[in-house]
Amino acid sequence: MNPNSSADVIIVGGGIIGVATAYYLAQRKHGRILVLERSFLGMGSTGASVASIEPLAMFPTLAALQRRSIEVFQHFDEHIGGDCGFVPLTLAMFVREKELPAMRAAAAVGRAAGSAIEELTPEAYLARVPGTVLDEIAGVYCSPDAGFADPVLTLNAYAEAARALGVTIRQHTPVSGVRVEQGRVVGVDTPQGTLTAGQVLLAPGLWLDPLLAPLGIASHVSFLRHYVVTLEMPPDAPQHSYLDAAFDFYMRPEKSGGLCLIGTALDNPQDRFEDLFNPAIDPPGVTQEMSFTVWERVVRRFPVMENARLRKGYTGVADMTPDRQPLLGNLPIDGLYLAAGMSGIGFKMAPGIGQTMAALLAGDAEAAALLAPLRPARIAEGQLLRPKHQFSLIA
Ligand SMILES: Cc1cc2nc3c(=O)[nH]c(=O)nc-3n(C[C@H](O)[C@H](O)[C@H](O)COP(=O)(O)OP(=O)(O)OC[C@H]3O[C@@H](n4cnc5c(N)ncnc54)[C@H](O)[C@@H]3O)c2cc1C
Repeated sequence: MNPNSSADVIIVGGGIIGVATAYYLAQRKHGRILVLERSFLGMGSTGASVASIEPLAMFPTLAALQRRSIEVFQHFDEHIGGDCGFVPLTLAMFVREKELPAMRAAAAVGRAAGSAIEELTPEAYLARVPGTVLDEIAGVYCSPDAGFADPVLTLNAYAEAARALGVTIRQHTPVSGVRVEQGRVVGVDTPQGTLTAGQVLLAPGLWLDPLLAPLGIASHVSFLRHYVVTLEMPPDAPQHSYLDAAFDFYMRPEKSGGLCLIGTALDNPQDRFEDLFNPAIDPPGVTQEMSFTVWERVVRRFPVMENARLRKGYTGVADMTPDRQPLLGNLPIDGLYLAAGMSGIGFKMAPGIGQTMAALLAGDAEAAALLAPLRPARIAEGQLLRPKHQFSLIA
């Protein structure tokens, strides 16, 4: 057998989830690992990510994955080697009266996983960070176990570390189908022919449906476009990382200083996401009108941002599941696994997801138990993960 046409594990997708999992599989010496990326590494959601990292989670499994991840981001050079551009920065999330039960529940889940989380009154927050208008805000979820990274640096560092452990990464290699024989995965089809493997992990982000549909498996994933506005900040601008449940935006400064990124999402029924499937169509940009709308919300919260100047923004698309939690686990074909539907929160959990998916492929029972609530089959079974109390947050 040609060694270039077979592997023990094939991973479809060179985003942060696929590449991080490849690295952790190689660390476990789980045979020959091959990552296939149809374009170039990071061309999907990862390259567009705002890459904020915070402990917000409504379920213990997600909180555990996030906790494992923040440990890696905080000590990236020790764990992976190289620089992921991590900047520690307190997260403040503003919530209204009706979201206080959700804030309390999230704080309890996060603390149980080991994250430092405070629940502050608006007055207590303002005593620390004056200059914020919190009129309709009833509580502030505040965590120092937060920050942001550079998504491209992070991905490249994982790729380099994976290659150093023997992982092969092939870019410009689209997978056109998954090969199954007698209920078992045997490989994938590519323009260079069929590549065989006993285990295949699908981590294709937004492009999941074309791989699952021929197997008769519904993906249940939909798309949500994020609009990211960039502002040149005045010198006395707020310096925390923010999630604003009332005004529906997330915001963080850039490492280089002087700029901040503000993200919001639009559920636009007119958006057909044609740019995702036709390279001849450019993705929509952020219009002037859109930038002004976001800027106005930010100024209502932080009046000092009145003096911020608008810069060019961009858009990116997130793969959303019906309960807005990832799909992680086995598919109903032996040897076939899924890590997709990251629902706009995949970056902050990528190290934890990579570690745990690698453990699952290696047959680790603890990983299987941890990931059980996120099993892809839950959607078809109608077992959606719905917390008792929920935020109206997009993020
Ligand atoms: C604007 C924006 C802001 C965000 N901000 C945050 C944030 O602040 N914090 C956070 O935690 N998350 C954030 N996210 C979400 C996060 O970026 C994603 O959840 C994460 O990057 C998903 O990684 P992935 O590897 O699953 O997917 P992707 O990065 O999309 O990677 C999938 C890869 O698979 C490849 N592929 C697809 N089909 C095939 C095929 N058939 N053959 C070969 N290759 C294939 C694609 O080309 C792609 O490179 C944000 C997302 C967006 C869009």
